[in-house]
Amino acid sequence: MKKKREIQFATKVIHVGGHPDKETGAIMPPIYQTSTYVQSSPGKHKGYEYTRSHNPTRSRLEECLASLEEAKYALVASSGLGIATLILHAIPPASTILCSDDVYGGTYRILTTVFNKIHNIIFIDTTNAKTVDKAMKEHNPYMIWIESPTNPLLKITDIKKITSLAQKYNTLSVVDNTFMSSYFQKPLTLGADIVMHSLTKYMNGHSDVVGGCMMTSNKSFYDKAWMLQNSLGPSQSPFDSWLVLRGLKTLAIRMEAHQKNAIKIAKYLEKHLKVDHVIYPGLKSHPQYAIAKRQMTGFGGMITFFIKGDLKKSKKFLESVQLFALAESLGGVESLIEHPAIMTHASIPKKVRQSIGISDNLIRLSVGIEDCDDLIQDLEIALKSV
Ligand SMILES: *Cc1c(COP(=O)(O)O)cnc(C)c1O
Repeated sequence: MKKKREIQFATKVIHVGGHPDKETGAIMPPIYQTSTYVQSSPGKHKGYEYTRSHNPTRSRLEECLASLEEAKYALVASSGLGIATLILHAIPPASTILCSDDVYGGTYRILTTVFNKIHNIIFIDTTNAKTVDKAMKEHNPYMIWIESPTNPLLKITDIKKITSLAQKYNTLSVVDNTFMSSYFQKPLTLGADIVMHSLTKYMNGHSDVVGGCMMTSNKSFYDKAWMLQNSLGPSQSPFDSWLVLRGLKTLAIRMEAHQKNAIKIAKYLEKHLKVDHVIYPGLKSHPQYAIAKRQMTGFGGMITFFIKGDLKKSKKFLESVQLFALAESLGGVESLIEHPAIMTHASIPKKVRQSIGISDNLIRLSVGIEDCDDLIQDLEIALKSV
């Protein structure tokens, strides 16, 4: 007899953790909006004692998330930085951590203002395997933190290459997979030990929740992170977990739609006379296009481009768009536009920003799933105005 085929991603997002309610048959999971659970005798309960520790709605979300990254365990927290906090506390104090030098502004801030008091943080270019090899030899790091593609420069780290180096040096590897979502990239299958997401972005996809998660098959690391979650307290509310479960159902079709629009817009911008250059992993002009093609199953919905001119011109352009909303964050169904130097990456000192290439004429798009020609028309009118 033919072996039964395993369910695929687009089925998992809808069905894993989505079993009907046992009591009523409700097809949608109940929101267990409760802080505590009744016990029949002291210590005798059904696996749930207090919602900071566990909640059935959150458990369903964790079950689904683990399956999407092909991990054994998932842990959900109240934000992406909340989960980063748990991961960074789960390693011994005074550990050395190597980190991609072009990480999300909030990750940079937490590493340089909070965890620098506990650990030794070293920023390096993780897109360069030689640099990583040298740094591992020299510093014997406990952990390496990789973000790929990075934000906002969309630099791509060869995850397989770097995690195999990490294995060689007995270094724990973490990949921030927020930009690709579990749909386009699966770092655990490329050798990473831990993957994390800001659920706020593509995973939930509707700009109505802040949340974070990590997935791993390393039981002792998961146990430590859960213990810290219970001790430090950044658990997600049942309602927010329910919203993410709901948002996840369309992850597969949303990511396809984001990508379809992004490819068209990246090509449009690349030809535009008022645009200096465009960074998008799906363009052949991207310096790591070959790696992107190999390790991701798509290129995502984020585009970075440099407008010709100075800060004044960038501002004029950003004030002129109408469909693209000028806002921080990304990954929602609606298109967003932002200026990293002033907005998302303001917490990075100007000198550092300039040295890694976040200049005043750099603009970041989170391409939504609206009608693509409407989006292009919006950009065209705004570009004409500068
Ligand atoms: C937003 C984001 C985070 C932080 O997540 P929050 O949910 O805002 O705390 C971390 N990494 C990346 C790449 C992000 O875009």
